[in-house]
This record gives sequence, structure tokens and C-alpha cells, in this order.
Amino acid sequence: MKMSWSRRNLLAGVAGSWLMEALLPRHLYASYLADGHGEIYRQIGIRPIINAAGTYTLLTGAVISDKVREAMSEASRCFVHLPQLQTVVGARIAKMIGVEAALVTSGATGSILLATAACVTGKDRQKVRQIPDITGMKSEVIFPKAQLKGSYNHAARSVGVRLVEVETIEEVKSAISPKTAMLFWTNILEVQGKITRKEFLAAGKAASVPVFNDAAAELPPVENLAGLVREGFDLVGFSGGKGLRGLQSTGLLLGRKDLIEAAQLNNNPNDDAIGRPCKVGKEELMGTLAAVEVYLSRDHEADLSLWKGFMESIAHDVKDVDTIKTNVYIPSPGGGPGGGHPIPYLKVQWDQSKLKLTYQDCARQLREGEPSIEVNASREAMDLASYNLFPGEERIVGLRLREILRDAVKKS
Ligand SMILES: *Cc1c(COP(=O)(O)O)cnc(C)c1O
Repeated sequence: MKMSWSRRNLLAGVAGSWLMEALLPRHLYASYLADGHGEIYRQIGIRPIINAAGTYTLLTGAVISDKVREAMSEASRCFVHLPQLQTVVGARIAKMIGVEAALVTSGATGSILLATAACVTGKDRQKVRQIPDITGMKSEVIFPKAQLKGSYNHAARSVGVRLVEVETIEEVKSAISPKTAMLFWTNILEVQGKITRKEFLAAGKAASVPVFNDAAAELPPVENLAGLVREGFDLVGFSGGKGLRGLQSTGLLLGRKDLIEAAQLNNNPNDDAIGRPCKVGKEELMGTLAAVEVYLSRDHEADLSLWKGFMESIAHDVKDVDTIKTNVYIPSPGGGPGGGHPIPYLKVQWDQSKLKLTYQDCARQLREGEPSIEVNASREAMDLASYNLFPGEERIVGLRLREILRDAVKKS
């Protein structure tokens, strides 16, 4: 750990100084590698990544803070009663966030599964044992058809329910029946289709049917943690390993106390429950408690300006490349890679008829280089995400990108 701090300090010291630009790339790469970055992975033949793409599951989500790491390490040293720990950690998280109840889950998808199970079984232990055979229970979940693509509804269907697809708010209202267990909303997909979040929620409220909101990656803004519950959603799911910067194997389920209790009945460690495979251990529980604490106490304005600075630094590094266009931006909802997270991104474009290099080819070269760098590339542009870069890495990305682009200029 000491090693990684000295690496970061060294790189942070270099960042922002444009003086020795010509000399820097080699120095940066060399110190980066010499400092044992990701050594545990290199030893098994895996190259660690500089992540300028985003909090993608396939790129292992987030990197936890030292406080979270320490909490997990300490938690790992002794035994406790797991159900008691689940309850206490849930209550503490709920209090910190300012919601009625909370449960640490095995990811936002675990939250979907447990939310659906809770809405189907309530606190009826016989029903808890019986699902996914839902004979005699509420059997339908109302789901906006336009949100199918990009949703994680398989986790809801695995409870045994059928999705009733709807396209308009009138269809939502007429689809609600005594068979309806839950209304399922995916926050980031609001821009898809005709139904708005407010009217979807209102329809559920009017019929007294619980409304679940999958808000997995919807942090920042920090206000979303409590805000969506306060808005009226009965249950809201978040990922632990995305904007929250906690463990990738965890998530949160926030909301109504009776439903959270029903979710817990369906959860591990109960042996005869659909959530038995969704185990969250003591290290993850204490790690998530620490992660929420750290996240809530962050200076979110400072984060945003640090991240913006990363993007401006990369833009600065490539600004002299022929035909280059850069734009530091915060995506609007539904725009940008990953659906529009409100954090600074950098869009990089060039004239592909002059510079014979596609965005995808450039991304491939970044990935294959040392250190390996991940970005988003489409046919239209390259988009770099700021929030998973460590101080100093922006310089490695900027200079490596410039190297690739200059190389392409020479060959064109
Ligand atoms: C990432 C994501 C999930 C899955 O989250 P996990 O924490 O990996 O289970 C679910 N829903 C949405 C909208 C997501 O973006």
C-alpha cells in the first residue's frame, strides 16, 4: 500500500506541470511500472488497467478507498453473528443516508431480486419457501417496454413473476390488477419511451402497489441516495461498486421498513430462500458501511473539479494534433457513454479522412500499450471518463494518446 501511495504522490507532483513535457512520458511509465502497480495481478499474467472508460462491471467497477480496505481487513479477523451484523449495518446505513430502512445486497442486481421477492412474498414465510413457484401469489411486475434493453429484469423474473410490458401511462394504469406485485423502473432509462418517472410512481401510489427503482449507477449526485426514496419510491437499488466507490460485489436496497424486512426474509443466510446464493460476508458488510460513510463525507464539489481538471489536462496534451477537436462535457441524461452519468467526460474527435485512424483503432492501441488504458470508442468519437482516474494517470493517458495520434499523423 505504501508503494501505491508513493506512486500516486510522485505522479500527482508531476501532473499539471507542462515544463518537461517531452521528457515525461518515459519517466511516468517507468515510475508507474517500477512502483509495483498492480503487482498481484501481473504475477498471474493479468495486466492492470488505467480506467478512463467508466465504472463498468466488466472493468471491475470501482477501486475502494483505504478506509474501506482497512475496515474489511479488521472485520476479517474475528467472528460475529451474521444476521445481527446484517441488521445493525443496515440500520446504520439507513440512518446515515436518511431513509427508513436499508439492506446491504450482493449488487444492484441482488437488490432487484430481493425487492421483487419482497413484493411477492411479503413477510409470509411459507411464500418465502415456495418461490419461484408463485402459485396463489401476486404474479406480475409492470415494466416499461422501452426500458427492456439495458435493464437487469432477469433478476426480477427469476422470482417467478411475469413482466407485463407497458408503453404509456394509460397502459400502466389499466395493467395494474390484484395480480400486480410491483412496478419496476430503471432510473437511467427514463429517456427511453413515453412514460415519465413521476407519473409511473404516481400510478403505483394511487393503486398502493410498491414501486421499485433500479438506480444502480446513479451517483453522483449524492442526493440520489436518499432523494429517490423521498420522492416516493418504495424500494431503490444501488450498486456498491459504481458511483458509491464501494465493493463491486455489493449493493444497497433502500426504502420502506416492512419491505426491507420482507427482503431480508428472502435473503441469505436463510437456507430455504431465493436469496441464499446472494451472500454478503462480514468483510463486505463492514466495507459497505465504511464506503457509505466515506461517500457521504466526500467533498463532491472538489471531486467534480478534480475530475474536470483530469479531462482538461488530457485535452491540453493533445491540442496540437492536426484536426483534433476536444470537448470537456457533462452528459445530459440519456446522453454520453453508459447512459449519461453527470461527471466530466472528454470527447475527442479528429478528421478521420486526414488522419487515417479510427476511434476504435485508437482505443485498441491504448488498450494494447503499456500501461493498458481503457476508453469508450464509437464510430463518432472517443469519450474518456474522469472519475476512475487516479491523480497522475491523466498525464499518462494524455501523453500516450498524443503519441498514438502523432504517429497516425506521420503515417497519413
Ligand atoms: C450496473 C447496473 C446494474 C447491475 O449492478 P450490479 O451492482 O453489478 O449488480 C443494474 N442496473 C443498472 C441500471 C446498472 O447500470
